[in-house]
Amino acid sequence: MADIQGYLVKQGGSIKTWKKRWCVLKNGSIFYSKKANSGELGIIHLKCVSSVVASTKKKNNCFEIETPERTYYMKAPSPQDMNQWIEVLNQHLKKLKEQSNGANGLAKPERITVEDFDLLKVIGKGSFGKVMQVRKKDNNKIYAMKVLNKNNILERKEVDHTRAEKNILQKLVHPFLVNLNYSFQTNDKLYFIMDYVNGGELFFHLQNEEKFDESRVKFYCAEIVCGLEYLHNCGVLYRDLKPENILLTEDGHICMTDFGISKEGLLSDNDRTKTFCGTPEYLAPEILKGNSYGKAVDWWSFGTLVYEMLSGLPPFYSQDVREMYNKIINEELKFTPQFSAEARDFILLLLERDPNKRLKDPKIIKSHPFFKGVDWDKCLKKELTPPFIPQVNGKADTSQIDSGFLVETAKLSLDPTSLSSSMQKNFEGFTFINVNEHLNT
Ligand code: AMP
Repeated sequence: MADIQGYLVKQGGSIKTWKKRWCVLKNGSIFYSKKANSGELGIIHLKCVSSVVASTKKKNNCFEIETPERTYYMKAPSPQDMNQWIEVLNQHLKKLKEQSNGANGLAKPERITVEDFDLLKVIGKGSFGKVMQVRKKDNNKIYAMKVLNKNNILERKEVDHTRAEKNILQKLVHPFLVNLNYSFQTNDKLYFIMDYVNGGELFFHLQNEEKFDESRVKFYCAEIVCGLEYLHNCGVLYRDLKPENILLTEDGHICMTDFGISKEGLLSDNDRTKTFCGTPEYLAPEILKGNSYGKAVDWWSFGTLVYEMLSGLPPFYSQDVREMYNKIINEELKFTPQFSAEARDFILLLLERDPNKRLKDPKIIKSHPFFKGVDWDKCLKKELTPPFIPQVNGKADTSQIDSGFLVETAKLSLDPTSLSSSMQKNFEGFTFINVNEHLNT
């Protein structure tokens, strides 16, 4: 079923002023924010909506969304836009009603369990479990299933990180972030069912090609900047930006995955946190020094990634981790001749060791000469032409995945240790069904 997005002018709840808002219908909810690339200000869940009609009280293409708490008044830019919003929203409401009544022979939304999926292949490994390509039995759709072992999470005191990962995946909606469809749990495991992104990791392509030319790097970086800016605006610190976590879609756009060590709730630019985590090559000096740190750490990792994509190796590298940390804190940054003057300047500003002086304002980042010629509105709408199209053959294709993973049999092991009910409490509220995905089936 179609989703819809665009600017609407919305009347406030308590203060009745009209404000332009970017509205996105996704996962059965309308998310509204100031701009397409800014943090969400509010959500209207369609399951709470009783009707959507053109307003008879208010003018200027105004329609009304009725919920038990209030009536939302929304003005569309044109009568056609208003009609489209009303039509799409009513289609969704109708489906929701059918589902909850069991009309048209449709059952109420059933519980999703691991039994609903055929396990096809192992496609990746994270620190807490594996990721498998799976097929949903009832509609043959292909998904990526990330499985986390509860015992591992508890032993390594990662409950908060896991909860943050689920919240981020569930709440954030952006063209360059992976989409979560379902999450559920068994006694011993947590499961995330995400869209399967089949173009391979940026890491895989970088290994195959050694390095990328500057126009290709510029394209990936522009999309990553939009994704990072959105995460930061939503108060999320990514903390694990690296080529393994950037996937390519089949049409060559980027998709950011793995929010397993992301931190929520850093709403102000001055908010800080202290946990030592991340991947050695990409850690900012302030993390290594044990200082409290903020969003600037993601821009350091981004600078490392830009350097690595252009040269094939991270800027401060050693097989010995201690030596690598020493280099990150002290070593002079060196460039080989293939770096253009713009790229050198850009990387030097990002790999500034003092986080206060580091380039970290997305507006200034976007206007740096490295990005000369990038149309940022088009970038956000995925309208820039990707420089490389992965050679994939259908949604289930795994040719872009490291063959090392694919040889493993896709199966779920059973953890014999049973968790007490107080331990299980840590995972309360984990189950989630993306209504939109459910209606599409
Ligand atoms: P993670 O533990 O989230 O870092 O996932 C480990 C690896 O699994 C990633 O580096 C990807 O190669 C792969 N992976 C994760 N999510 C997806 C997805 N949605 N589609 C395809 N591959 C994925």
